[in-house]
Order: sequence, then structure tokens, then C-alpha cells
Amino acid sequence: MQRAAPALLATVVVSLVALSACQPIQATPSIADSPPSISPSTAAAPVHSTTLDTEKYDNVYVYTIEERWNDGRSLLHVSYPVTDQDAINARMVEHAQQFITEFRTVSEEIESSYQEYKKETGKEAATFITQYRQNFDVTVANENLIFFGVTRHIDTGGTGNTSVQGFIFDRSAGDELHISALFVDERYLELLSSLTREALGERTRARIAEEKFETDADRKTALESTLHWIADGTAPTYENFDNLLFLDDGTILVRFDKYQVASGAEGVVEVSLPIDAVASLLKPEIRQLLGLEVETKGGNAEYAVAVERSLKVQPVTASSFVLTSAPLPARLGVQPAKPAASLAEEDISCYEVACVALTFDDGPSVYTPGLLDILQESNVQATFFVLGQSVRIQSETVLRMHEEGHQVANHTWNHPNLTQLPDDQIVKQLKDTNDLVYRITGEEMTLFRPPYGAYNDHVRASSDMPVILWSVDPLDWRDRDAEIVAARIIESPAGAIILAHDIHRTTVAAIPSIIVGLRERGFHFVTVTKLLGPQKPLSGHTYTRQLPPPSQ
Ligand code: ZN
Repeated sequence: MQRAAPALLATVVVSLVALSACQPIQATPSIADSPPSISPSTAAAPVHSTTLDTEKYDNVYVYTIEERWNDGRSLLHVSYPVTDQDAINARMVEHAQQFITEFRTVSEEIESSYQEYKKETGKEAATFITQYRQNFDVTVANENLIFFGVTRHIDTGGTGNTSVQGFIFDRSAGDELHISALFVDERYLELLSSLTREALGERTRARIAEEKFETDADRKTALESTLHWIADGTAPTYENFDNLLFLDDGTILVRFDKYQVASGAEGVVEVSLPIDAVASLLKPEIRQLLGLEVETKGGNAEYAVAVERSLKVQPVTASSFVLTSAPLPARLGVQPAKPAASLAEEDISCYEVACVALTFDDGPSVYTPGLLDILQESNVQATFFVLGQSVRIQSETVLRMHEEGHQVANHTWNHPNLTQLPDDQIVKQLKDTNDLVYRITGEEMTLFRPPYGAYNDHVRASSDMPVILWSVDPLDWRDRDAEIVAARIIESPAGAIILAHDIHRTTVAAIPSIIVGLRERGFHFVTVTKLLGPQKPLSGHTYTRQLPPPSQ
């Protein structure tokens, strides 16, 4: 059933579209072993949907690296932005590389503890898990400036920690800007100091009033020492206010490091202020970027304050970006598959002809537009298990998937191992992604695939959608070699659900030969829903391949 997609954001700044839509993406710095290289667009003019805010994230793509080692005990999932500015990309790659290096060191240490434990006790233990995840949001952007919020989650054997870091770049020069560059002068430090000190002090008084103490003197001592701690941590210095995140919902998050204003158990402490509270000290161009009145209001703006643990990262309004497409197959010297000879895939019956379902996980990514070009040229329909977090950045790519007849399906918001989450978090991971994709395509998603293929009864019970796994795994995440990946997939039996990842350049490069190879075997490419039909996949069930025909 199709319904009209409601507008995501009320304001659409049309004047910015022309400016940044034309800028081609140039070379991109590399990380690990598979560098993204993006060529200038040769495709037709980008398509804009009037129901989406399409000007905000122009030319921002999601680059994702995933590693799985030690039988799934060591998991890495890192996404960072790729833009049209090399200097910005280099900085974000450097930042991601540090995280990846740390992951490799830590997971090696934890794995050796695991092996020792296993040797001594003869038992497996689920606590030796290393999980490193990094995702990013474009929090605010125009053609001059772009703000990224990078969220990192580290899980080492049951103890988790989440942190968020803001980045601000000048898009034309590529310079990273210090927070102070946003303000007219240093008075902003005094202002943030007094606002946050007041908010944190209020929270502390309320909490200590509720706590149990032996004597009133003890209570007084506890309060005084905590307030002293807060006073130090909020003193008006650059170092104390080096982590601000500007959000496009009109708030500013002031983030204090672990131990800066509270005990380590509290983790990172955030104070959320309305941007209006500091607006009078922002430079005019920043006020304009944030959609504030350029006139200074002055005075003591009213402000509401919320102090939250950093685990509750505030969601940012969904938005979109402009599509430019990377002509991958030509560049890699791979011949695109021939267009299908008058194949109307929608009219076939997969009980009468051999079908397979190509599925792509973890996107959309920087490579997905190029993949869509290949599929379109060859008239192939596929199924994309997308991540909500990346859909938010590359929503135009998801709209294109939908418009070109592919099936869009749910792969959670940011790729956690769902078996390690409480039920409400599992539900949220799936629902947030469903809601966002619905707003883009106007169609409900009906299938989901849990990250790492990891599920249990809780995961299955958390959604109306059936679990879709796979019957062919070419290990494209491990073997970054187009020929190897193609050879494995071409061997697929009829009725297979084929797992692939559109976050790997090598996988996308393998697709033209896969299309040719499977068509030579007489196979047809269909979406997962088509492959499983006409029987409707049932919620609570798991599917790995085509079902046998229904008994008459
Ligand atoms: Zn995945």
C-alpha cells in the first residue's frame, strides 16, 4: 500500500541546491585495504524529491568498514563521512584509523584471554566480546560549513561506553575549525561556564537531597565537594568547552569528559541548551547557518536545561542529500552486463524458472549509487538491507533504490549485535529505521536481517517482520577480491538468497560478472519478497532461501 510521504522538514533552502549539487567528488584518502575512489559524476542531473530536504547533505557519502574476527567475538563497524573536500576526508580518515588500530590491539588482547580461559576451564564464555562501533551524523551543514557528530561505542566483555565528538569544517578550505571560531569573542566561555555550572549545580543539589547520609554534615560535605568539582570542570577555559555539538533542532550540546564534572560512573555528562542562549555571541554567518535571526536578541535568553548521560544521544532530524554517481565498472575495467533481452522479471514465476535474490547489507554507502547504475543497466532487481543511520545521510540513494524497483529492507539503525540489547532497544533499532525509510519511500518495509545474522527469541519477538538470512555467503567482507567473490556467487543454487555488502568496492566491482554468469545459467534476479512468494513470509519465522511450492 502506498501512502504519500510526509515532508521531513518544513524548510527547504532551494538556493543552496545549485551551488553544491554540481561539485564533483574528487579523490578520497584511503583507510585499511580498500580505499574509496570516487570519480566526478557523469550521470544525469541529480533527482530531487520535493518531499525531502535535499539540500542539506550535498555530496556527503557514508564510508563503512566492517571487520569480523575470532568467530565473531571481535566486531568492528566504522562509518565516517566522505565529502568533496580532500582535507576533510583526510582528517576523518585519521580519526577513524586511530579507532580501528585500537580495536585491533584490544580485540587481540581479549581474544588471547579468551583462549587462555578456554584452555584452563574447557568452557566457552560469552563475555570475551570486543565490539567497536563508530557512526556519524551530519548535524548542521550548508555550502560553507559542515558539522559532524561522531558517535563511538566500545564494548569489551560486557562493559560498554559511548562517546560523541563534534567536528566543524570549513568546506571550501577544508580547515577544521575550533569551537572558538564560531563566536565573536571569548565571552562565550563565560556564558557557557555560568549556564552549565548552574544546570549541573541544580542537578547535583536535587540528587544529593535524595541520597541517604549518616548526618547532615556528611550531606553538606558531599554537596560541597561535588560543587567544587563542577566549578573546576566548568571554569571558562578553552579546554573545558572543547566539545560542543550544534544540532539542527535548535539545541547545543555541551559535553564534559568522564571525570570532568562528575564521578567516572556517570561517564560523559551532557548539558543541552537552546542555541538562543548563546546566539548573541555567535558570528553572523554561524547564526545564519543555524537558521537564527541575524539580529542580536541580547539579554538573558530563557533557557531550559537537561543533563543526560551520553548514552542518550539526541537524534537529529532526518534529512537528505544529492546523488552523484560513481561510474565504477568502467573505471575498474569491468564490462557492464548486457541488458536483459526483454525479461520482464515481474511476470515470471520462480516455481517455473530458476531465481535467486541478490541482497546487499550495511549500506547505503559511497559505492551504492554506482551499484544502482550497474543494476539498472542490466535490469536486475535486488534487495537492500539498509542501516537507518546511513539512510539518514544518503536518503536520496534509498529513494532511488525504491524508484528503480529494488526492495528496501531493515538492517537496524546502526548495526549492533541485537542479541546483546534489551528488548526495548531492539524494538527501537528496527522501528526508527522503518519510520525513516517510510518517510523517504512511502512504503513500509516488511523484512529485516539482524546484523551478523545474530538473533534469538527476543530478537524474533521484537518485530512483525520475518528474519531474512541467506543461503550463499561469498565472504566478500573477508576476501576483498572481485574475481573470488564473483566466482563464489556464480556457483549459487537456484532459490538462493545471496549475501553481499555494498560497502565494499570489490563486491560492487564483482556484480557485472555475477549478472552475466548467473544469467548464462538461466537464472533470474528477483527481490527477496518475490523469491519467497506467493507464500507470505511470516513474522517470527526465519528464511534462508526460496520455499518449496505450496502443496495443492
Ligand atoms: Zn551487516
